[in-house]
Amino acid sequence: MATAVYPGSFDPVTKGHLDIIERASSLVDELVVAVLKNNAKTPLFSTEERVNMLKDVTGHIPNVRVESFGGLSVEFARESGAKFIVRGLRAVTDFEYELQMAQTNRSIRPEIDTLFFATELRYAYISSTIVKEVASYGGDISGFVPPQIAEKVYEKLASVRG
Ligand code: ADP
Repeated sequence: MATAVYPGSFDPVTKGHLDIIERASSLVDELVVAVLKNNAKTPLFSTEERVNMLKDVTGHIPNVRVESFGGLSVEFARESGAKFIVRGLRAVTDFEYELQMAQTNRSIRPEIDTLFFATELRYAYISSTIVKEVASYGGDISGFVPPQIAEKVYEKLASVRG
């Protein structure tokens, strides 16, 4: 059975992430979407909120499981019995960092490979950061995230502002 882990911050999940989840899950028996906790960036949403939003938008895909983890993705992948780590490549700017991570991970666990997915062109410019920035100025983010996520982003930004 081939399992893959798709790690990330998902703060919040975007249509770009969802596209990768749909494509990756069709290639493996099980895809574990793994929300990184305690990362260096201060997230807008708590780990639990990010996990719940991902569960909400991936509920229609039976072989997707959502979890959270701390520490190294490659160790989480090993503990999950995964052969692959999934990552998305949006532009050349992602490439250098992603290549370095993939090579580091292989040096730690040579039995786990990284699978890169070229981003669907219409989502290539979308990032969680851009979503938060546009929403913080009251802009329309309905093209970037599913409707229930957009609602959560506006709600959260309003509550953070107080
Ligand atoms: P991280 O903090 O690990 O980069 P992200 O949640 O930003 O976490 O991204 C997780 C993964 O999803 C990364 O591999 C990233 O390249 C990919 N990704 C981010 N945005 C998109 C997008 N719009 N389309 C496809 N892949 C994306």
